[in-house]
Amino acid sequence: MFSYRHAFHAGNHADVLKHSVLIAILRHLLQKDTALTVFDTHAGAGLYRLDGEYAATSGEAANGFLRLIHALNTPAAPENKAQAAIKIVADKLAPLLQDYLDLVASFNNKDSHKVYPGSPFIIQRLLGERDKLKLFEIHPTDSKTLSANIAQLKAGRQVAVLREDGFEGIKKFLPPPARRALVLSDPSYEIKNDYARVVAMVADSLVRFATGTYAVWYPIIPRPEAHDVPRKLKTLATKAGKPWLHATLTVKSSKLTSDEAGETIRPGLPASGMFIINPPHTLKAALKEALPQLVTLLGQDQHAAFTLDSGG
Ligand code: SAM
Repeated sequence: MFSYRHAFHAGNHADVLKHSVLIAILRHLLQKDTALTVFDTHAGAGLYRLDGEYAATSGEAANGFLRLIHALNTPAAPENKAQAAIKIVADKLAPLLQDYLDLVASFNNKDSHKVYPGSPFIIQRLLGERDKLKLFEIHPTDSKTLSANIAQLKAGRQVAVLREDGFEGIKKFLPPPARRALVLSDPSYEIKNDYARVVAMVADSLVRFATGTYAVWYPIIPRPEAHDVPRKLKTLATKAGKPWLHATLTVKSSKLTSDEAGETIRPGLPASGMFIINPPHTLKAALKEALPQLVTLLGQDQHAAFTLDSGG
């Protein structure tokens, strides 16, 4: 079956981008009085330990969330240009990033960074009593862990965990009762078909519920299907006459290198993107401030960069 376990990747640079954008979207949508339903089509286990076996094996948080913490807490040596640039950022951190850091910190004891919340816990933390959260997780182990983690929250009927295919399962819930919804879709893209399925899910959802906010995360890797995701989502949004926002963050080169023994070294995930349809009108300005800072804080080589486009 599936081998992808998000515990290996929790807190990596893709999570930093995805979760900061998620929080900013929710902050805006939750300002209104009408109830919001949030759908997480690919929920994962919900809560992760950065000092646990999975995270320690992959070390991915070290180049994501933990790198951010380290950069912001390391005093700059005056002669070091990179550190000086980080210091400038740290002294005036973008509100979107500060909000993300504060929210992750709220799951930890002071100055400890052992617990990392996945999207289900981030979302639930921000919801009001009237709002609802529907979590889809198909993997038996992760779904069981997610259910156990969510049970600790004693959130009752506010949160539902569904052990089913999120691409299909969402159909029966759209449009939601109060006609306000955020759909986060964060597939593992372990199956090549996920690229086409995420686009098909958004296409179908827009027909069922055109005013929902749709946020799709995707990896930027050298494969045509991955490049197709934002291109196809842009076409869908444009055809539906809906505004869209597209943000990408690259932290390093995607080129293969080799070690001293001539063995090929794969770079790991170099970049990822978030494509949002019907984004909050405040999101672009917030990202314009935050993305260059993420490049400074998380960039690993001269290929580090961001893009931010919008339309509609
Ligand atoms: N959204 C989570 C977060 O930000 O914390 C991480 C999700 S992880 C990238 C993707 C998850 O989707 C995995 O746990 C995987 O088991 C699950 N999954 C894969 N295919 C699925 C499907 N068709 N429906 C629901 N869940 C699926």
